[in-house]
This record gives sequence, C-alpha cells and structure tokens, in this order.
Amino acid sequence: MYKMMTPGPTQVKENVRLARARECGNPDIDKEFFDFYKETCELISRLLHTENETLILGGEGILGLEAACASLTEPGDKVLVLNNGIFGEGFADFVSLYGGVPQLYTVDGKNPIDAQELEKFLQNNHDYKYATLVHCDTPSGILNDIAVLCPLLKKYGILTVVDAVSSMFGEQVRVDDAQIDILCGGSQKAVSAPPGLTFVTVSAQAKKAMAERKTPIASFYANLKLFEGYYEAQWFPYTMPISDIYGLRAAMDNIAADTDILARHARLAGSCRQSLTQAGVKLYLESGFSNTVTVFEVPKETTAQAILDTMREEHNILLSGSFGSLAGKVVRIGHMGSNANEKDMAETMEALWRTLKKLGVELKEG
Ligand SMILES: *Cc1c(COP(=O)(O)O)cnc(C)c1O
Repeated sequence: MYKMMTPGPTQVKENVRLARARECGNPDIDKEFFDFYKETCELISRLLHTENETLILGGEGILGLEAACASLTEPGDKVLVLNNGIFGEGFADFVSLYGGVPQLYTVDGKNPIDAQELEKFLQNNHDYKYATLVHCDTPSGILNDIAVLCPLLKKYGILTVVDAVSSMFGEQVRVDDAQIDILCGGSQKAVSAPPGLTFVTVSAQAKKAMAERKTPIASFYANLKLFEGYYEAQWFPYTMPISDIYGLRAAMDNIAADTDILARHARLAGSCRQSLTQAGVKLYLESGFSNTVTVFEVPKETTAQAILDTMREEHNILLSGSFGSLAGKVVRIGHMGSNANEKDMAETMEALWRTLKKLGVELKEG
C-alpha cells in the first residue's frame, strides 16, 4: 500500500478499520443501535462546540451539501452563494436544482472572503433566505473566516449553510459561536474514517425554516426533516450503514482523545509552507492558508502528472492534483487528520524535494 498524503480520502487508523469489522445487528429495529447512533451524534455536536442536533446521513459529503439545500430551498427562494473556490461555486447548482435562485457573490480565489467588503454588499442586498459558504475550499486550500462571516450574515437575517468537510478537526470550528445554521461534514477528510458518511448539525432556526415551508421538500433521501423525532419513534428514513457508523464513532473517539490535534495541524502546515517557499516553490494562495492542505504551483520545468507519478512510483507516496480550473496547474499535499503526523510529513517533503530535483526543477538549497 502507498502512503496516502491526499486531501481526502485520508489515512484510516487501524482501530477505525477494526471497528467496522464488528458484528452487526439490525439497525432498523435494534434499540441499542438507536442509542449508539444518538450518542455518536451527540459526541459530534460536542466536538463541534454546538448544542444543535447532529444527524449522520448514509452518503458521502456531497449528500450533506445537497440535503442542506434541498431541505431549506423552496421554489423562488433567493440564496446568496459566497464563491471563492470550486466547492463555493458548486453550491449554486444545488440551489437551482431545488428551484431556488442563487446569487453568486464572487471574489478572487487566492484570498479569503473579506468581511468588510461583504458587509458593504449586504447593506444594499440582504433579501436572502440563506447563504452558503465553504470553510476550506479544498481544490485551492483557501480558508474562509466563518467565525466572522457567519455572524455578519446572521446580522442581516440570513441563515448560514457552511461546508466544513475538509476543515473540521484540522481548523477550529465552533458552530454556536459562529451561529452556523447547517454545518456539513464528511467522514473521509480530517475525520479520517473511510468515505461513505456525511453529517450535518442543524440549528433551531433551520428547523423552523423547514417547518414553515409552504411546499414539500422535493427529495426523500436528502430530506433532513424526515429525521425529526427518529429517536422517539425508533425509526430511520432508510436503513443506516451500521458498519460505517461504527467506524465513524471510533474516528470521533480518536479525535476526542487527541488534545494536540489543532496545534499539530498548525505546526505541520506551517513547516510545509515554509519549506516549499524556502526552496523557491510558489504557493498557489496569497493568503488564507488552511492548515489541512497545502497547494503549490507546478514549477515551469515540469508537469503536475510527472510530479504525481514520480512521487507514487519512486517514493510510494500519493499526492493529489486538483480539478476544474486548477487541473494541471497545482499539486496538493493533504496534511489533515491521520496524515498530519511528523514522520509522514517529513518523508513526504524529503521525497518531494528529490522528485522536483529529478524533474529538473531548480531549487534553492534549504
Ligand atoms: C471532499 C469535499 C466534499 C465532499 O465531497 P465528496 O466527493 O462527497 O467526498 C465537500 N466539500 C469539500 C470542501 C470537500 O473537500
């Protein structure tokens, strides 16, 4: 097996893999499983610093984003889509699919969204049911300051939907302090469980907005309202992937026990950016670097594919390219979750140095 240093999926620890091998009961009718599900949701809420209810959905991260939009959007609703990256812009599609009218607020993709500029815009434009934004937009690694942006949106009466799939547990996420109405997470990024699950935290105001809809939610699988009262009724809308949830719980227990987790992400990300810069490799972003992923520009002497192939074939390390408008232009090192350990990062940086040298890139000594 190669060493995974990609920004999702990430390395999965042995205790998480073993938890998935536990014997399974019937999650549709087993009372103990309803307790286990609810306790796991409560643990996630605690780790995200919120009193809001967490729901674990049986599907990848994308399902969480779609479920938030499906559950909040009624035909004709105006939605503000904050966009400085590929996932940011992508929210507009989910809004349109459910009949909403997305309005993109687009800023340059190399810097975080500026709160003062956004406020100037909001002063004259705030007639939106909700706004979407991405905490870490993984293809570029940009980190938006949700702790400032979300309270600003709320000040103008706009509900907030945040994609924190690739930031949570590598960057600080405090849902209640930031007044986030629906926060979306996924199993396979910094959580370091295998792909397959998403979870959302849902505020009382978001639930109220769903309850006051005049039209039904145009989805079954992406309908968050269907989970209302699931525990009392001992009923899930569909059969829960019990083994995936056992694995997710083990991953969350690992996070709860890891007191150094945010500081370690900050240390390793800082050293990663510093070594690249000192070697003369250009980082893609100008500011707003997430501590979960580092994105650098492909040096002119080589190609993204050559870097990825050489890393994989000669050093057995998997890095990632990017997609959309960034395809072929940048390479990404994912130092989130279990990937974020000193040994793997040191080996990765050493191998990357050798790879770039071999491909004829002129590096400053460092
Ligand atoms: C990975 C990721 C998702 C979820 O995508 P999947 O393909 O479902 O894993 C959503 N948002 C961001 C920012 C991500 O990095």
